[in-house]
Amino acid sequence: MTDGDDLRRKPPHIALFPSAGMGHLTPFLRLAAMLASRSCTITLITANPTVSAAESTHISAFFSAYPRINRLEFETIPYSPTNPTTDDPFFLQFEAINRSVHLLRPLLSSLSPPLSAVVSDFAVASSFGPIANDLSIPTYVVWPSSARFLSLITYLSLSISENSLKFGDENVEIPGLSPIPVSCIPPPVFNPNHLFASILLSNARFFPKAKGLLLNTFDRFESETIDALNNGRVLSCLPPVHPIGPLEPSELEKGHRLPWLDDQNVGSVVYISFGSRTAMSKDQIRELGNGLEISGCAFLWVLKTSKVDTDDNEELQEVLEESFLERTKNRGIVVKEWVKQEEILAHPAIGGFVSHCGWNSVTEAARHGVPVLAWPQHGDQRVNAEAVERAGLGVWVREWGWGGERLVRGEEIGEKVREMMSDRELRNRAREVGEEARKAWELNGSSEKVLMGVIDGLKT
Ligand code: UDP
Ligand code: UDP
Ligand code: UDP
Repeated sequence: MTDGDDLRRKPPHIALFPSAGMGHLTPFLRLAAMLASRSCTITLITANPTVSAAESTHISAFFSAYPRINRLEFETIPYSPTNPTTDDPFFLQFEAINRSVHLLRPLLSSLSPPLSAVVSDFAVASSFGPIANDLSIPTYVVWPSSARFLSLITYLSLSISENSLKFGDENVEIPGLSPIPVSCIPPPVFNPNHLFASILLSNARFFPKAKGLLLNTFDRFESETIDALNNGRVLSCLPPVHPIGPLEPSELEKGHRLPWLDDQNVGSVVYISFGSRTAMSKDQIRELGNGLEISGCAFLWVLKTSKVDTDDNEELQEVLEESFLERTKNRGIVVKEWVKQEEILAHPAIGGFVSHCGWNSVTEAARHGVPVLAWPQHGDQRVNAEAVERAGLGVWVREWGWGGERLVRGEEIGEKVREMMSDRELRNRAREVGEEARKAWELNGSSEKVLMGVIDGLKT
C-alpha cells in the first residue's frame, strides 16, 4: 500500500462501552479521548443509572469537554436478586447491565457511519460481545487490571473446568509466569456461586472470541507476562493482548492543584488513597492516622468512609479525633472530596503513595515514577501488588492481610511509611519506571505503536 492509499482509508467509528464504577469508567474516558484525538469517530455508550455520583458528574463533564464525542444512553433494567451473594452495588450493577444489553442491539446496528469496532469493559463482555459479533462488528475488550491478573483469571477460567477448580497447593503455576501464590487469589473466587467469581470467570470465557484485549499496562512494566500472553504460553486460545498504557489523563483530570502541595519540599509528602470504592473500618482509619503521625512525614490523605460516595455524609471530625486534626494541622491534610489524583501524583512534592493497588492507581504511580507502599484490600489488588514489586515500583507488607482481616497498628504503619519515604534505591527505581512509562508514549514507543496499529487495522 502507498502512503496515498493510506491517507484515503477512512478512520474507524468505534463504540466504547464501560460498565460500573470509577475504576472502570476512567480508562474508558481516557481511551475515548485518546482515540478521538487520533481522528477516530467515537460513540460512548453510557448505562443509566450510575451507582456513584462521581460517575454521573464525570460523564456529564466529559461530554461537555469533548463535544465531538457522541453519546448513546440507555436505561438498564433494575436488578434485585432475592438471595444475593453480594451486597456490592457495583457488582450488582454489572449484572443489571449484563441483563439489559439486548436493548442495545437495534441501537448499535442503526449507528451512522456503521461501526468498525466496539470496545467493551471486561465485566460485560460475555453479554455485549456476542451481540456485536452477531452484527459482524469486531469486539475489543478492555481489561481494567494487570496483565498478571489477566493471566491468572484466564488460566483459571479457560484451562480448568469449573468442576475441577481446586486450590490445594501453595501456588498457581501458569506457563511462562513466576508462580502466583494461592493466597493472592481474590477470596470470593473460591465460592463459585459468588457474583464476583462468576463475573470474572464467565466474562473471561468470551475472550477467545474477541479481536483483542486492551490493557492499561506497558511493555517494560510487565514484559514477562505480556510476552507469555502474546506467545500463547499462558493459553493458546487468547487473542492478541495490546499493552497501551499508561493511558493519558483526559481533560477532566487536569487543573485544580492543591495550593498546599506547592508549599511542601520536593519528595517530602506521602499521599494516601484507597481508590474510589474502598472504606476502611473506623478502627483501621484511626490506626492509619496514628501511623501517619508516627511516621513524621508530611501527608495528604484522601479518606472515604463508605463504598458509594452518595452515602458518605460524615464530617471529618466525626471520623478522626479533633485532637488528631489539631496536632497534625501543620503537617498534613485530610480530604473527603474527590481529588484529581493524576495531578497530585504529578506534583514534585509527592514522594510516596500508600495505595490499595487498584490498577488505575498503580499505572498513575508508574506514569509519575512515584514509589508505592502497597496495601492491597480486595479483589485483584494482591496480584497487582506483586506486579508493583516485580517492576520495582514499590514494596508490599504481606503481613497486613486483606482489608479487614486484621487491625494493622499505627506503629507498623508509621515505620513502613518512614522506610518507604527514605528508601533512595526505591525512589531511583520508581523514577526509572516513570522514565520507561514516558518512553512507551513517545513516537514509536511501545504503547504508541500498539495503539496506532489497532487503529490502523480498523481503517477501511
Ligand atoms: N504486541 C501487542 N499486541 C500484538 C502483538 C504484539 O501488544 O498483537 C506487543 C508485544 O507484547 C511486544 C510488542 O508489542 O511487546 C512488540 O511486538 P512484536 O513482538 O510483534 O514486535 P515486532 O517484532 O513486531 O517489532
Ligand atoms: N480517583 C481520583 N480521585 C479520588 C479517588 C479516586 O482521581 O478522590 C481516581 C484514581 O486516580 C483512579 C480511580 O479513581 O484513576 C480509582 O481506580 P483504581 O483502579 O485505582 O481503584 P478502585 O477505585 O477501582 O478501587
Ligand atoms: N471489594 C472491593 N473491591 C474488589 C472486590 C471486593 O471493594 O475488587 C469489596 C466487596 O464489595 C465487599 C468487600 O470488598 O464489600 C469484601 O469483599 P469480598 O470480595 O471478600 O466479597 P463479599 O464481601 O462481597 O462476599
